[in-house]
Amino acid sequence: MLIEQIPEVFRRFLPGVIWRGDKTRKVIYLTFDDGPNPLNTPWLLDELDRLQIKATFFCIGGNVERHPDLYQEIIRRGHRVGVHGYAHVRGLFKDRKAFDEDCAKAASLIDSDLYRPPHGKLYIDQFKAMSKRYKVILWDVITRDYNPKLPPEKIYDIAVKYGRNGSIVVFHDSQKAMKNMRYAFPKAVEFWKQQGYQFETL
Ligand SMILES: [Zn+2]
Repeated sequence: MLIEQIPEVFRRFLPGVIWRGDKTRKVIYLTFDDGPNPLNTPWLLDELDRLQIKATFFCIGGNVERHPDLYQEIIRRGHRVGVHGYAHVRGLFKDRKAFDEDCAKAASLIDSDLYRPPHGKLYIDQFKAMSKRYKVILWDVITRDYNPKLPPEKIYDIAVKYGRNGSIVVFHDSQKAMKNMRYAFPKAVEFWKQQGYQFETL
């Protein structure tokens, strides 16, 4: 519960950060982090076309640099892109200058007003600085598809258990999440469609 869906009381500590969309509508915002990845993103783009859904991709600048055609293909197919840093630094940037440099590099590669910090973590002053330049997007549901130790069925269960009106849901198009995401994401979409949900980009 604490990981998959962070309670409202904790969300208030980060004012200005977007955790959830419109709570009054049956709408879900699918987001895919850490791509573009040549092993996983093309499959995902085809699957989104098949399901007739537009999603939001929080791209890593370094991956955009390595796979520019794939990045352009995401946009060409009508999806939104957001900034997810350049090098996806683990944990928090203790070196503020390195953080600024990473952000500047990512911004030079990804044209967007959306930002999601790697691992969802920043120092408060960094959250404030980034929210002046971007809409800072965290999430309502994190599926934990990035954890290969969890079985794919568990990822599906997390998605449908916590998904609700206005949920911003995190999946990953990284290689590590491939097995879990490919199982859980289409199945969860079919479930949500049956429940009457629509899908929108951020
Ligand atoms: Zn990430």
